[in-house]
Order: sequence, then structure tokens, then C-alpha cells
Amino acid sequence: MVDVETREYHPQAVTDTAERREQLKQVYLEASACTRCALSETRTTVVFGAGNADADLMFVGEAPGANEDKQGLPFVGQAGRLLDKLLAEIGLKRGDVFIANVLKCRPPGNRDPRPQEIEACRDYLHAQVDLIEPRVICTLGNFSTKLLRGDPTGISRLHGQPEVHVLGHRAVRLYPIYHPAAALYTPSMLETLRADFARLPELLALGPPPQPEALEEPVPEIEPEEAFPPEGVPAPEDSTLFASEPAPPAEEPAVSADQLGLFD
Ligand code: URA
Repeated sequence: MVDVETREYHPQAVTDTAERREQLKQVYLEASACTRCALSETRTTVVFGAGNADADLMFVGEAPGANEDKQGLPFVGQAGRLLDKLLAEIGLKRGDVFIANVLKCRPPGNRDPRPQEIEACRDYLHAQVDLIEPRVICTLGNFSTKLLRGDPTGISRLHGQPEVHVLGHRAVRLYPIYHPAAALYTPSMLETLRADFARLPELLALGPPPQPEALEEPVPEIEPEEAFPPEGVPAPEDSTLFASEPAPPAEEPAVSADQLGLFD
């Protein structure tokens, strides 16, 4: 939950839908004013993510591109249209899922995210995962796969293979697949992406993975590389989310929370 005095974020199980949305909105407001890295100087809009706050399925891409930066919404360009098409092929639409990125701000010229940017931004993604509590997180491409698996293995070795990982306070099924942008111009990769996508309904039908015992005591600060231990090993609760810096004064964000679809 978000402490209203300190605005620190303390992950814990959220049971109430309205509470989940309220907390997500607080994280959104925090991210909208973020200056944790230099991308805040070049971005037009913070792209927090959008969709259903109660989604069982979450997608995590890499970073906003030019269209996303302008509109403040994720995957609104060509890769987004392909994502919509693939979703429709398995009977889903955007309103059924939540879509976020590793970085909330566009890297200039769409260059790759840098380690210090990923580090500066990761609390927001962790908070999103903690609050939305998806059963399945589909990581799109290398950056989100490496970050959420806590391991440098590349997407071409991992795509289409679901794994249970403990993220924050609960276990989730991670499902790495190719990034739609990579598949746009490579027909063989598109077919692989489509085949991997087609397995999503059966993965969702498995229900939530077995959960680790709830951790009673908050655990002291952890290093980023320890945050996501190997499969089957419960992660300590990250009590450091948003703890390091006081929030800047709240400003009106460029995209209102309602536009993100969080409150449908
Ligand atoms: N690519 C991404 O990884 N994310 C977006 O939001 C758009 C394109």
C-alpha cells in the first residue's frame, strides 16, 4: 500500500478492487512526475501503462516509442496494432489485459534502454505487478524477459516456455515471447510469435500458480540482482520500493488516469 504521509510504497496483497485501483493511481501520479533518470528531460509524456487493473494477463514491453511518447499510451504504433491482432486471435482485447513497459519514458531515437534507466524505473513495474496481481506475465522481447527473470538468458532460447517465478509478494507464471516489433518484418518470427500467443489461453486456464508462504517480517534492502531468485525460491519482500526519495509535488499528468482504462 502507499503510505499517505511518506508516499512510500509497501507491497502487500491487495484484496479489494477499489483499493487496487486507488493504489495504482497513486503509483501513476508518482511516475507521471518522475525525474529519476535523464529520460525525464527528453520525454514528452510518461507512458505508465494501460488496461484492466484486475487483469489476469499482463504484457511487459521494452519502452515507449515516438507514438507512445506523444499519446502517453503503450503500444499505439505498428507493433501495437500487431499486438491487438494477436490478442483478437485468442479472443482477447486490450480491456482484458494490462500493458506496461520496462521503461516508462522514451529513450531518444528509440535506442536500447540503459542499465541505469532500467534500475531507475524498475520500482514502477514492480509496483504494477504487485498491485495488478496477474496470473501470467507475458514478457515481450529481451529487456522485460531479462529484468523479470533476473537472468541474462536471451529471448530466442526462452520464448514459448512458461516458468513460475516469485515476484514481490507472490508467484506468477512468466511467459517470454518475441517482441511484436521484431516480428513485424520477419515472417518466420511472426509465425513463432503467433504459435506462442496461441498457448496463452491454456496458460491462463491453469489458474494462479502455487503461492509461497506469506512472509511475516519485512526484509531489509536487497540488491537488484537478488530481487528475482531462481524458480521455486521465495523472494524477500522488497520494502525499498519508493522508499529512497520523497515524491515531488503532485502535478496534473498529461494523460489522466481515466484514459489509462484503470477505472473502467
Ligand atoms: N514497443 C514497446 O516495447 N513498447 C511500446 O509501448 C511500444 C513499442
